[in-house]
Parts: sequence; structure tokens; C-alpha cells
Amino acid sequence: MNYLERFSLAGKRAIVTGGARGIGLEICRAIGQAGAAIVLVDLDETAARSAASSLVSEGLAVSHRFLDVTRSADVTALADDLNKESPIDILVNNAGVGPRAEALETLDEVWVKTMSVNSDAPFWCSRAFGRHMTERGSGNIVNIGSMCGLIVTQPQNNTSYIASKGALHMMTKSLACAWAKFNVRVNAVAPGYIATDMLDRFKTDNAIWHDRWIQQTPLGRMGTPEEIASAVLYLASDASSYCTGTILAADGGYTSL
Ligand code: NAD
Repeated sequence: MNYLERFSLAGKRAIVTGGARGIGLEICRAIGQAGAAIVLVDLDETAARSAASSLVSEGLAVSHRFLDVTRSADVTALADDLNKESPIDILVNNAGVGPRAEALETLDEVWVKTMSVNSDAPFWCSRAFGRHMTERGSGNIVNIGSMCGLIVTQPQNNTSYIASKGALHMMTKSLACAWAKFNVRVNAVAPGYIATDMLDRFKTDNAIWHDRWIQQTPLGRMGTPEEIASAVLYLASDASSYCTGTILAADGGYTSL
């Protein structure tokens, strides 16, 4: 057996949500380098265009589309449209929001938006793209969950985010069991603290939290988007062919404490 070939995505077509920056952008780079053609979608169309063009300049096959993943009808229309061109083999549900709000101060709209982007939208996308995958008898879905879906992080209390990622993890397991018979695998990566725009602002806004996050992480540092993209590449490829319903923690050891 050639093990490196098992990581190849040559001939595959993938869609990555929230691909314009941070972890999503790096996922596009990783699976693009493995040979997949990528459709990068994001709410921020300008950032999506610039991300796609920089990946194309690196020699990768990337196109971009505007998509608000919370709009279920738009998600379904895009899935049908793209699959008419050629099948989408891999869906990466990466788009997410990370508000910080103590439970008693959480406004209704913050709760609803967090659940809408982090757990409803991955279901809209999985249902829309999964319909084509199940009909075809092959497909691969990777969700970006969080260690917050496995444990409660401290010192911040962030109930809406924790609840949204917990729901996403259980949706991952439920779809994995439902769609295994169609040869569609569904897994998730659960990142720890990763240095992206989502958390970098805390270096100045709340350095006490930021320092504590690093102290609480056994590897003693924040992770990088590249370290999450590598885990996604594993789950998106045949290298993980016996994994479905897996929640793969990539968290510097945080959830082992
Ligand atoms: P980020 O804020 O840097 O990027 C998120 C991207 O998603 C942005 O490009 C944004 O425009 C897009 N997006 C947001 N709402 C959208 C919508 N409705 N429709 C389409 N696109 C939308 O975030 P990141 O740090 O790169 O996080 C990516 C994923 O990883 C998220 O699901 C996040 O919850 C998860 N995660 C991040 C960390 C971390 O420490 N950064 C830790 C655990 C999990």
C-alpha cells in the first residue's frame, strides 16, 4: 500500500464554507494542495474573491461564491447548481461565529445568531449537499466543531457557543450513522485555541484571558490554522476511510487535562 496516496484528493471537488480567512482559508490551501478543486464560499465576498485569487496564484484550482450559510434556500439552490456542473465530493462546514457573552448578559439575538451559523447552517449545508452524495453513493463531510463542544472552557463562560458546538458534534454523529449505508462519511475536527482573527483580538482586549488559555494548554501555545487544516485533510481523504462519526480533537492536549 502507498500510504501517501491515501491522502490524495486528485479528481475530487470540494466546497469550504467560511473559506475567506483564518482556518477556512488554510483548509482550502491544504485540500487544494492534495489535488481537490475548491469552491470557496463566504459571507464576505470581497475577502472571498481575494482569498480565491491568491490561492489560484499558488497554482490551486479555486473558484469563489457569495453564500450566507444561514439562508437555507440559498444553500439548497447553490448545492443543486454546483452538482449540476459536476459532483461535489467533499463538504467542509467551517463558517462559524464566536461571540463572548456571559449567560445572564446574552441577548436573544446573540443566542439565535450563534445557533444559526454554528449549528443550523451546517445542517442546511449537510442536507443540501448530502442529498446529492447519498443519491450518488459517495461523499465526505467534515464539520469544524470545537473543544467547546466537548468540555466547558474557562475563565470565560460562553454558553451560546458551547451549546452550538455541542449540537454540531451530535449532528455529526447522527448523520454519520444515518448515511453510512450510502457510503457518505461525516466527521468533525474539534480545535482548541487557534490564532485567528476570532481570538487574536483578545491579545489586546483581554490579555488575562489570552494568557490563561495558553497556560491551560498542555503544549503551552495556541494552535495554528495549518494544524487544523492537516486534521481536515486526514478526515477528507481515504487516509481516514474507517472513520465516521469521529470528533477529532486538535487542541494541544486541552481536553486531556
Ligand atoms: P474567523 O472569524 O477568522 O473566520 C470565519 C469565516 O466564516 C469568515 O471568513 C466569515 O466571513 C465566515 N462566515 C461567518 N458567518 C458566515 C455566514 N453566515 N455565511 C458564510 N460565511 C460566514 O474564524 P476562524 O477562527 O477561522 O474559525 C473557523 C471555524 O473554526 C469556526 O467554525 C470556529 O467556530 C471554529 N473554531 C475556531 C477556533 C479558534 O480558536 N479560532 C477554535 C475552535 C473552533
